Amino acid sequence: MSVSTDTLHLSELAPVTVQSEIRAMTVACDEMGGVNLAQGVCDTEPPAVVLEGAERAMRDGQNIYTRADGIRRLRVAIARQMARTHGIEVDPDREIVVTSGATGAFQAAAQAILNPGDEVLLFEPFYGYHANMLKALRVVPVPVAMEAPDWEFDLDAVRAALTPRTRALIVNTPSNPAGKVFTRAELVGLASIAEEYDLFVFSDEIYEHFIYGDAKHVSPASLSGMRERTILMSGFSKTFSVTGWRIGYLVADARWIPSIAYFADMTYVCAPAPLQHGVADGVEQLPASFYAALAADHVAKRTMLVDALRDAGLTPQVPDGAYYILAGTGSLRGPNAAEKARDLLARTGVASVAGSAFFRPGSAVGEELLRFCFAKRDEQLQDACARLRSFTPTT
Ligand code: PLP
Repeated sequence: MSVSTDTLHLSELAPVTVQSEIRAMTVACDEMGGVNLAQGVCDTEPPAVVLEGAERAMRDGQNIYTRADGIRRLRVAIARQMARTHGIEVDPDREIVVTSGATGAFQAAAQAILNPGDEVLLFEPFYGYHANMLKALRVVPVPVAMEAPDWEFDLDAVRAALTPRTRALIVNTPSNPAGKVFTRAELVGLASIAEEYDLFVFSDEIYEHFIYGDAKHVSPASLSGMRERTILMSGFSKTFSVTGWRIGYLVADARWIPSIAYFADMTYVCAPAPLQHGVADGVEQLPASFYAALAADHVAKRTMLVDALRDAGLTPQVPDGAYYILAGTGSLRGPNAAEKARDLLARTGVASVAGSAFFRPGSAVGEELLRFCFAKRDEQLQDACARLRSFTPTT
């Protein structure tokens, strides 16, 4: 006789932790053979030096666990790059952890630093993984609204959102989904709040090389007094177009690193060994012109998609960084942004993400926006643009 399993159940969190809109749109797009501008999958070609380095490392037997904080060669290469590009001096042996993507960096850092019930401020529109990772750790994400279309924010609104439980701020610059590049003045303002209220700053800089026009990337850790309280998170998914490799890193004060490294170890043990070598080759060998070309290529892609969205009547906001465009929903049909994204997919075969994925539930702003990713090979982007242009707005 078998014993009933009817009383087994999932955690309290599980029912409210649902598949992200981005993945759902990807599935729907694949089913209909459409062009996926929903996920930030970045399917441009990875640099040859990175691919060859990983291949060589596999053949040379670099296939076993590495140290939890990553291979030294990569940590040294990252430290040199930090000094060169941000003027931040980093000790590669005590202040860097190579992680399983920037996602793994945030998970490990949040586990090491935050307690259940703590509150963490983040700017809205926000990157869903930031909010959901906090929730998964029973930490409360507290959104601070930025104002469309320029996504400015008010320091008084930041102060008003603080409570005695606030432990940290999340800054994502350049940001996903808005493409906002935080100015030095904005970051100095946030730094003064972080110092006054003794907060950590989690700084997600994964799009640091995707900067357009006159915008300048400023790393919060480079600001006076901020180095010890900033947990800088970045990675190679986007810069080297290797989102599936899962190689990221984190730079923080030596006081926090052993715990963060241990939490990373507990979940992932280490980042994939041969791929760390491939990425190290890239960081060591690729010249400044590689990064300049990356930005130039993406400016051209941005222009291509902005023009097509305008022609389709979907009023795009032109981003200063990252590789997403938020656009208005125009005359698309549906009661909310998710349905409007599905309407666009059905009528053009172009997948986007409902803006609501980046706002707190019930926000009216998110329901009027769709997010499109332009980190695509040119042929695919041209195909998507042609499909968008064929879209006839309904009246
Ligand atoms: N942070 C932001 C803001 C992102 O947009 C993404 C991917 O879309 C990530 C982190 C994920 O980075 P990784 O692939 O290194 O985990």
